[in-house]
Amino acid sequence: MKPFAIPLSRPDLSERELEAAARSVREGWLSWRAPWVRGFEERFAALCEVPHAVAVSSGTAALHATLLALGIQAGDEVLVPAFTFVAVPAAVRHAGATPVFVDSEPDTWCIDPALVEGAITPRTRGVVLVHQHGYPADVDRVNAIAARHGLWVVEDCAEAHFARHRGRAVGGLCRAGVFSFFANKLISGGEGGAVTTADPELAHQVRLRVNMGATPDAPYDFGVLGHSFRMSGLGAAVLCAQLDRLGEIRARRAEVFTRYDARFEGAPSVQRRPPLPWADPAPWLYSVLLPDRYRRDAAVAALRERGIEGRPFFKLLPDLAPYRGAGAPTGFPCARRLAETGLSLPTFGGLLPETIDRIASIVDEAAAGHHLAGGHA
Ligand SMILES: *Cc1c(COP(=O)(O)O)cnc(C)c1O
Repeated sequence: MKPFAIPLSRPDLSERELEAAARSVREGWLSWRAPWVRGFEERFAALCEVPHAVAVSSGTAALHATLLALGIQAGDEVLVPAFTFVAVPAAVRHAGATPVFVDSEPDTWCIDPALVEGAITPRTRGVVLVHQHGYPADVDRVNAIAARHGLWVVEDCAEAHFARHRGRAVGGLCRAGVFSFFANKLISGGEGGAVTTADPELAHQVRLRVNMGATPDAPYDFGVLGHSFRMSGLGAAVLCAQLDRLGEIRARRAEVFTRYDARFEGAPSVQRRPPLPWADPAPWLYSVLLPDRYRRDAAVAALRERGIEGRPFFKLLPDLAPYRGAGAPTGFPCARRLAETGLSLPTFGGLLPETIDRIASIVDEAAAGHHLAGGHA
């Protein structure tokens, strides 16, 4: 398949990231022993308004290590959204536990707090909520239910770097937060991830598990079973440069959001999430719902014909082969509608206003049914 002229996403990189990567190579600091890995952790924790951050190799590794550090065991159940990225139930399974799916809610596209309590069983140990497509989940309600049942909550912030919930940064709202720095996230080091927490013991337990169980003050005493989930020094160097430019990176993406918003203002068939008084979302991928799956697929095809990458939302997790049978095929009505009608549009700093207008027109027409068979009259 030939690459798209306008891809879904493109990392926002400058001479500053190039210089940081060059320095990493020049000084020979490629691994997580590079001094700026700790520097990155400190700066990232401060931005998330949380005392501790542990830099790791990916968002999935961050989740996996956090679940292990929380002491998850075979037979345990963890509640996860039925609609999100597959890394979430995969990490639960890799940690030896069973993901139990919960439907999403229409306003945030995140886990529906009203359905969490009903999914709890004597085996439930915790909840992984996801700030989906940049929007903070209704954390307070989930935390309150979890507290009543003695469960922990982990927030997956991979798609919502620096979003805010009732004035507080995501990553510090639950027992732990996890982040990904894959190339299509708000800031990136190519690959990478982080675990944030206010709990020093949990941070320590995560740190043990991402570096083969080695204790920092006795590096060859591998006291617990660990993984090799370390962030590279090269990636951390690029991430430090991204933090230097954070204001600029966010502002450039916010401009793209503003332009799409204005273009879709008079498009009743293109559904967006309502602004919520308690939520300050992150400008990750600009995403909309179309009236049905046929119009959504028509929009994807119409964009593709013009060299533009529109990405349909992920399939419903309980429908995927590794998780099939984990829920009734007719269940999860909200998550199913998201999976069938959702579409993410190209979103990156520097995307030209006229390109955004063109994309919006194509999507608007498809949403109104112009691209359906027989709809060209
Ligand atoms: C991207 C993403 C991850 C995983 O990140 P990797 O760094 O690719 O492992 C986890 N959860 C969500 C919600 C994501 O979007």
